[in-house]
Amino acid sequence: FAPFLVHLFLTRATPYTSLPTILLLGPSGAGKTALLTLLERGPLSTSTNPAQAAPTHTSQVSSAIQLAVSEDGQSSWRKDLDASGSTATSFLLVDTPGHGKLRAGALEKLGGAGKTGGKKGEKASTRTKAVIFMVDAADSEILATDAAEYLYDVLLTLQKRTVGTKTSRAATSIPVLVAANKLDLFTALPAALVKSRLETELGRIRKTRSKGLLEASVGTEEVDVPEEGDDWLGEYGSEKFKFEQMREFDVEVEVIGGSVAGEGGPGVDRWWRWIAEKI
Ligand code: GDP
Repeated sequence: FAPFLVHLFLTRATPYTSLPTILLLGPSGAGKTALLTLLERGPLSTSTNPAQAAPTHTSQVSSAIQLAVSEDGQSSWRKDLDASGSTATSFLLVDTPGHGKLRAGALEKLGGAGKTGGKKGEKASTRTKAVIFMVDAADSEILATDAAEYLYDVLLTLQKRTVGTKTSRAATSIPVLVAANKLDLFTALPAALVKSRLETELGRIRKTRSKGLLEASVGTEEVDVPEEGDDWLGEYGSEKFKFEQMREFDVEVEVIGGSVAGEGGPGVDRWWRWIAEKI
């Protein structure tokens, strides 16, 4: 897979560093590699054996594929735009490691993390057009724990990015697609339930973390008292967390269901349309 990508980069005229980028984030096992494989190779390779077509790797590094959408945003992901000669916008879909320890690097790619965001981060973030956060909708255990924790960090990073740059140049907003994957499985939660489950968990995490902050500052003399709402996700002081609260920080969050593999699922068309809109 990796040598193939290198080949891909070398054979394209556009230097990949200048291409708009979509970051693919999410916990391990969500289906990120499977999605990359599907979009890169087309649906035929997955129709017989999805597990085989998606070589699950314990990835330590990011991998990227170059894709294109037509300028009217109407093209199907199945179509090879280079071959058809239509005017297309190329972009990179970058799969980042989902393992806990490696997430810092993924978050760094979102760049300009608030006041601490350096020049390097800023530069990186200008290429990042959107984030796809993938979850396994059939695994409600992970959804309520690992996925929620990771998503909290992603959204907080984006929120801080907006807050941190408000005074100078306005940061271009980075929309987030929560891709509720594996809807081909009958045990999977529908997208609307994935959404409310995550909102509940994010609200819980927000409460727990704000408590931690208060406790940490008790008893110490010289403390960096956190500014009001510094690490509070969404509307400050609100009882319940809702994804809509992220709009205040220019972060649009959408939860859309789909399936990369399996039979009879909704497929990836709606995600692809979302991508086409954002690129
Ligand atoms: P990653 O860790 O996020 O890269 O996840 P993978 O792409 O390795 O996928 C984890 C497992 O889920 C693999 O066995 C995939 O074949 C499987 N998988 C991915 N997407 C789907 C899906 O839409 N439906 C079903 N049933 N299985 C899927």
